[in-house]
Amino acid sequence: MTTTANRRLSTSAYDFINEPYLLSLLERRSDPGEVREVIAKSLAKEPLTVEETAVLLGISSPELWEEVFQAARQLKRDVYGNRIVLFAPLYIGSECTNDCLYCAFRRSNREVVRRTLTPEDIEAQVQQLLDRGHKRLILVFGEHPTYSPTFIAECVRRVYAVRRPKANIRRVNINAAPMDHEGFAEIKAAGIGTYQIFQETYHHETYAKVHPRNTRKGDYLWRLDALSRAMEAGCDDVGIGALFGLYDWRFEVLGLVSHAWHLQKHYNVGPHTISFPRLRPAAGVKLDETYRVSDEDFKRLIAVLRLAVPYTGLILTAREPAWLRQEVMEFGVSQIDAGSRIEVGGYTEAGDAQVLEREQFELGDLRPLDEVIRQLLVDGYIPSFCTACYRLGRTGEHFMEFAIPGFIQRFCTPNALTTLMEYLVDYASPETRAAGMKLIESELAKLPDGPRKNALIERLRLIQETDQR
Ligand code: SAM
Ligand code: SF4
Repeated sequence: MTTTANRRLSTSAYDFINEPYLLSLLERRSDPGEVREVIAKSLAKEPLTVEETAVLLGISSPELWEEVFQAARQLKRDVYGNRIVLFAPLYIGSECTNDCLYCAFRRSNREVVRRTLTPEDIEAQVQQLLDRGHKRLILVFGEHPTYSPTFIAECVRRVYAVRRPKANIRRVNINAAPMDHEGFAEIKAAGIGTYQIFQETYHHETYAKVHPRNTRKGDYLWRLDALSRAMEAGCDDVGIGALFGLYDWRFEVLGLVSHAWHLQKHYNVGPHTISFPRLRPAAGVKLDETYRVSDEDFKRLIAVLRLAVPYTGLILTAREPAWLRQEVMEFGVSQIDAGSRIEVGGYTEAGDAQVLEREQFELGDLRPLDEVIRQLLVDGYIPSFCTACYRLGRTGEHFMEFAIPGFIQRFCTPNALTTLMEYLVDYASPETRAAGMKLIESELAKLPDGPRKNALIERLRLIQETDQR
């Protein structure tokens, strides 16, 4: 199955995702010696091949899984430090011409409310998000002729244009249906951050089962190669993902790693992020539980991804309940959404309860941003709203250059502390502020003395002073 626009691609990810071969890799059990060799390579911060990743997926003993968890914890600390980047989703519209079996927005679902935010609605939503302290958003769209690249680009510009006295949104990412090269170029020109799209499942038969062929999304290849078209059109920050629970989770991990290698080899930069949403209940959706991913396997898949792609951000969403998010964070997560509402218009209209018939699926973690931040602080993480890399043009390949020699820790930690101080001063509750000040103090104590540390202390002091004036 190919499409006209795909013929313009210099290469297809299809060549990298060899389904029979990946399935054969999952048939064997791994011995402790080879597992430890793979772990050692990963701790040396080298990305794992698909075959090496399969060695981790072939572990059967709980003790060896413990070693994988331990290594994932360590690698996360070595590469990312203890920062967690925060963002919020903003659902722009629930119209959709596709019929994905698992999604409440699918066209045959009569139970869901269809709505698209007007420009005024977008402004009201963004104002609410800014007033809570958010700086990064991901705009989410169904697939529909209304949501053309021009429409999406206009939404992005509108979001950036909303100003509060002290704040504006600094980074707008996009989760929208695949486009052609021209479409990607158009949204890039509007200043998007990451373009994210999930393959949902890399397994052809399952893909066909859950995405009817007479829909746009029924075209596996058009979707698979979307990220390649995005790269060729100049969007060098892309996010991949799989919807876990549609097929064997171990196969999907190999699919993600193969896709990441494809991007790395052909565009010189791997995906900026990987997402691993698990299937959630949704209005009017009857979920097939055959491939349900248990909490234990969920932990394993995060740890294996961390070890396989040391420099790729891992995104854990509010689909998961708060207690589990807290538990799996240490295995390698670098970004989470917080204070999320996924009803279209939910930041101004939903109140405290979820309105299922207005959502794409049910969320597991409904805590407000302030509460999520407080918990992170208590657990020793630095919640970060930093967007410095994007503002300085450090994206795609350039981002990787900086990331590799420990840049993230040396530069990102001070930036994270600065944006945390801004949050504490401008938005936090008294309890969160107290927890944050304590964390900043202990982080400062860890930094080596010198001009860099002094400059940071001065920056933090100025932020506090500005608030008191
Ligand atoms: N409509 C676009 C698309 O399908 O690519 C935009 C993304 S969709 C609004 C966001 C993602 O939500 C989907 O890619 C899918 O992985 C996920 N999703 C859909 N239904 C879900 C469910 N019931 N539980 C968890 N995640 C779900
Ligand atoms: Fe539409 Fe996306 Fe939902 Fe599929 S997952 S029905 S494409 S909104």
